[in-house]
Amino acid sequence: MLSGSGSLMWFRKGLRVHDNPALEYASRGSTCVYPLFVIDPHYMELDPNAYSPGSTRAGINRIRFLLESLADLDSSLKKLGSRLLVLKGEPSEVLIRCLNEWDVRKLCFEYDTDPYYQALDDKAKNYASAAGIEVFSPVSHTIFDPADIIEKNGGRPPLSYQSFLKLAGEPSFSLSVELSWMPPIGDVGRCEILQVPTLKELGYVEKHQDEFTPFRGGESEALRRLRESLSDKEWVANFEKPKGDPSAYIKPATTVLSPYLKFGCLSSRYFYQCLKDVYKNVKRHTSPPVSLVGQLLWREFFYTVAFGTPNFDEMKGNKICKQIPWNDDDKLLAAWREARTGYPWIDAIMVQLRKWGWMHHLARHSVACFLTRGDLFVHWEKGRDIFERLLIDSDWAINNGNWLWLSCSSFFYQYNRIYSPISFGRKYDPNGNYIRHFLPILKDMPKEYIYEPWTAPLSVQTKAKCIIGRDYPKPVVLHDTASNECRKKMGQAYALNQRLNGRVSEEDLRKLR
Ligand code: FAD
Repeated sequence: MLSGSGSLMWFRKGLRVHDNPALEYASRGSTCVYPLFVIDPHYMELDPNAYSPGSTRAGINRIRFLLESLADLDSSLKKLGSRLLVLKGEPSEVLIRCLNEWDVRKLCFEYDTDPYYQALDDKAKNYASAAGIEVFSPVSHTIFDPADIIEKNGGRPPLSYQSFLKLAGEPSFSLSVELSWMPPIGDVGRCEILQVPTLKELGYVEKHQDEFTPFRGGESEALRRLRESLSDKEWVANFEKPKGDPSAYIKPATTVLSPYLKFGCLSSRYFYQCLKDVYKNVKRHTSPPVSLVGQLLWREFFYTVAFGTPNFDEMKGNKICKQIPWNDDDKLLAAWREARTGYPWIDAIMVQLRKWGWMHHLARHSVACFLTRGDLFVHWEKGRDIFERLLIDSDWAINNGNWLWLSCSSFFYQYNRIYSPISFGRKYDPNGNYIRHFLPILKDMPKEYIYEPWTAPLSVQTKAKCIIGRDYPKPVVLHDTASNECRKKMGQAYALNQRLNGRVSEEDLRKLR
């Protein structure tokens, strides 16, 4: 139905009106704009068989965060004279139906490097081209275009942060123009337009979660959080990771902007520019890799490597990943996932993951190392899957990149350096306040024992109303023995990878198990 010059703005990530070049282009010179979001039931609807509340692919916290972000986007669009059109179904089918039935001459959406979207977008682009619809799909989820960096490097992604920085140089984007109004919505024909649904409408009931993440979704909250972080210029200028305290939960040691960047409620380019503005007005500031700008560049680095590496999310067939004979011990995996390892520091972090969907970077280091090369020797892909489902900032490139790193499968190779599940947390939080908060069963355990409660005499356990082995589990492995065993296996696997120049077969791995 092509009569006027309407545009369809297809929102997926990029859930914002600030610095949104696809939205700006859709609005420019169009008689009408259809701002569309498609609810994919596979992603959103309750899976009653999942191990924790949520859909098959996302935990309840991320779904709630997304719904809040959509409601906020709808309200921002209304202020511009428009609204969000919500439809439900398989995204490519819904989109194609809309392109077919609505007055659309331009299809606009943010370019996405995730394999899921690459496949979806190919379908959309092919259909639009065949129907004579212009497609505009700018890169605005990241500061750099990963394809440009890869091209500059002769077709291969840079494999170290420093080489990425050299190739990337200073970014040269200009933020898109702030919209003050939008063309009206066009005729939607027979399509049944929905309101942004509530969790209840998606099948969730109150009992599905005992504590929700304290982080509310949406662009308004993202910009408020950003302003709050930037208001302390000294803090921004002196930011130095990994120096922060991973156990700080009342006031986290970092910005907690990751979920907003994940959904594009906050533009990474705008964030970058704001940081540069702060730097201009201070005498001295930290630099990459430890500075806040440096953190954003870690994000860019992982996006670039992920985009340029076939099978980035797997061990097999992934050229940058060491082949390691991980075990498939589902019992150990379940103990880790369900916060039953018997190590309070590890279990508290896993509770924070389930209840909040966010943990500090070093807390993620601790549990990822523990699951893989530190103690349990379980495959990193299994831990990755659990993070992918439960994190509110779950991000394909960054999550896989960091699991490759932490398991010493790629990027970082010092497998002898293992986080202690006892002394690492104690260094930051000797009283164990973080543990007491997330594992209240241990709230009365004296601080001498809180990181290793199995060593407390029975009289102490009784007084603390927490008998180890009954109220809280005994350790699933003994850290000293398990970590030494892990080091040995990693050493053998590294030697094998070197001897066979990375061409390690399943049979070779079986022999090492
Ligand atoms: P800040 O320190 O305030 O940093 C600002 C921003 O920089 C972050 O919001 C994030 O976008 C980016 N950033 C910071 N650290 C990293 C990093 N190491 N790699 C890439 N980008 C970074 N981050 C995700 O956004 N999604 C994930 O799915 C994810 N999975 C992870 C899995 C593991 C095993 C580990 C060890 C880390 C993972 N991270 C992930 C990276 C990091 O832990 C989070 O980005 C960070 O803790 C988010 O908190 P923040 O926004 O306060 O970060």
